[in-house]
Amino acid sequence: MTRIFSFHGGIHPPENKRQSLGAPIKRAPLPARLILPLQQHLGKAATPMVEVGERVLKGQKIAEPTGHISAAIHAPSSGRVTYIGLQPVPHASGLESPCIVIETDGIDEWYQKNPIGDFRKVDKLKLIQHIRESGIAGLGGAGFPTDIKLNLSKDHIVNTLIINAAECEPYITADDALMRERPDEVITGIEIIARLLEPSKVLIGIEDNKPNAIKALRDVIRERQLPFELVVVPTRYPSGGEKQLIQLLTSIEVPSGSIPADVGIVCQNVGTAAAIYRAVVLGEPLISRIVTLTGFALGHRQNYEALIGTPFSVLLEAAEVDRTKMFRLVMGGPMMGISIEDDRIPVIKTTNCIIAATEEEMPPAPPAQPCIRCGMCEQVCPASLLPQQLYWFAKGREFEKARHHNLF
Ligand code: SF4
Repeated sequence: MTRIFSFHGGIHPPENKRQSLGAPIKRAPLPARLILPLQQHLGKAATPMVEVGERVLKGQKIAEPTGHISAAIHAPSSGRVTYIGLQPVPHASGLESPCIVIETDGIDEWYQKNPIGDFRKVDKLKLIQHIRESGIAGLGGAGFPTDIKLNLSKDHIVNTLIINAAECEPYITADDALMRERPDEVITGIEIIARLLEPSKVLIGIEDNKPNAIKALRDVIRERQLPFELVVVPTRYPSGGEKQLIQLLTSIEVPSGSIPADVGIVCQNVGTAAAIYRAVVLGEPLISRIVTLTGFALGHRQNYEALIGTPFSVLLEAAEVDRTKMFRLVMGGPMMGISIEDDRIPVIKTTNCIIAATEEEMPPAPPAQPCIRCGMCEQVCPASLLPQQLYWFAKGREFEKARHHNLF
């Protein structure tokens, strides 16, 4: 049994997860327009392969990766391409970005599904290329193209594969719902990743506030007699941060400026594992994901399986939003999420949660107070920074000192 270690700092914010777990995952409505940003992942934006006026089918590749670190994009439903150009996208800058817009025809006609057969026997490079062709990028939040993390150079020997099932951010329950309802998909996805990386051990890190998901995964692991270890960690934000989870499960601290693979570890999110399963076993590219719709301005708070490209407004209406009560709209959770002004923006591969909050739920921040150097920020900072010191350096324009105190 794996020992659990600790990381510096962390907090216990109100969880607010229960309200979106009362009903099973629901299929979101097919929108009239799907808006597909070409940049939904880290790396270079994808390059369009279709033209305005062209009919496309569900699952058809409509943009290809540009260079090594990039991801393909597929049509989430059948219809006609009506526009290629700038549209509002989910980004903190609020700027517009190039998108492909598809007017759906309601037929939802598939292009062709392309399952790869028995993943245990298929050549590894073919498997990785298939995952790249399926447009899979990390669903946990960063959106790093998954094929890159599965195709490491010979300098990187993977000792430990860590599957991030912690979902520590308040309000968000998309991974929890996925694990409760589709544990087979998650575990098969992990088997595929393990086949590619051949780690010495596979650890699945999950917070102890998800008893149903823990049971569901444990049952499948036991049934299939797999050598995967489910490690239940105490609920503490941000235990699902990649570096924090690695420290919790292995005691290894990934040095600043390094990646986990430099210390023999690869991390993948449970949602990404399920997307790999769908691509390899069912032959479906990444065209939908689970999104938590929550906040007290909604009549129905639950998880929806939404097509990538679905405007937020469509999901808010499906969840019976009361716009007179909605004070703030947040994409992501209350800790790492961003406030959204324009609800025409679409769900992308990294959209895990939309919060339509009332004023009581997320009131405006109180006015800033002067720092009294109490040191509490240092005690909770999970990156072991000195926030108050960085603040004073920044205020005094002593940027070199801030840099030396690990600002980056
Ligand atoms: S910035 Fe840090 S040290 Fe200053 S008052 Fe806030 S918590 Fe205390």
